[in-house]
Amino acid sequence: MNILIMGAAGSGKGTMSKKIVELYDVPHISTGNMFRDAMRAETPLGLQAKKYIDKGLLVPDDITIAMIQERLNQPDCQKGYLLDGYPRTLVQAVAFEDIAKKIGKPVQIVLNLSVELDALIHRVIDRRMCENCKAIFNLEYLPPKVENTCDYCGSTLVHRSDDTLDQLVVRLKEHVFLTKPVLDYYGYKGLVKYVDATKNIDLVWLDVKAALEKVQ
Ligand code: ADP
Ligand code: ZN
Repeated sequence: MNILIMGAAGSGKGTMSKKIVELYDVPHISTGNMFRDAMRAETPLGLQAKKYIDKGLLVPDDITIAMIQERLNQPDCQKGYLLDGYPRTLVQAVAFEDIAKKIGKPVQIVLNLSVELDALIHRVIDRRMCENCKAIFNLEYLPPKVENTCDYCGSTLVHRSDDTLDQLVVRLKEHVFLTKPVLDYYGYKGLVKYVDATKNIDLVWLDVKAALEKVQ
């Protein structure tokens, strides 16, 4: 299965992605996680990306496209993929057409998670994440069982450097001006499945699962 998952910051892409890969045997490829891992390891890519991510801005297309091209050419993508956070600009979408064609894995469905603005703010500001297994918690809606500790792997949870109100405003602007056109692009192709992601996690998951079952 070849899946794209889209939605604004805080729409629940990471949470749904974890569930999708439990059910379907495809690699979860999150550009946000890839950049954060590179930032933690302080690689040249990570140092480059940090300049943009900490401001809430998108990482430039050439850097992002090169990273994703490399990743999609790994052998595990022969099973398909769940792409989370890519493509986020029209330039990235056009580059992706080419990459997908070359590996013979055209996208089959684009899941778009939509959430009301005020819900997004709380989801993002109170979000905590596990850098090790990428599980996502929320201090208000989905607190970890033990304070500041991942339920699944026991690692210490972190507050992302871009999960503040100021950065969120910038990220949402980037989303409206740069990423919304990507959604329209896939909309014309008839690939987009809209999911109301304001509902609770279990209900959103039912909708996502139903949408994916129709593809197979
Ligand atoms: P969220 O969807 O919660 O904003 P992500 O973890 O997907 O977060 O991305 C975090 C940040 O990583 C983005 O704000 C952006 O700076 C960078 N990033 C992720 N994916 C891309 C992409 N496809 N193109 C450019 N920048 C990206
Ligand atoms: Zn964990």
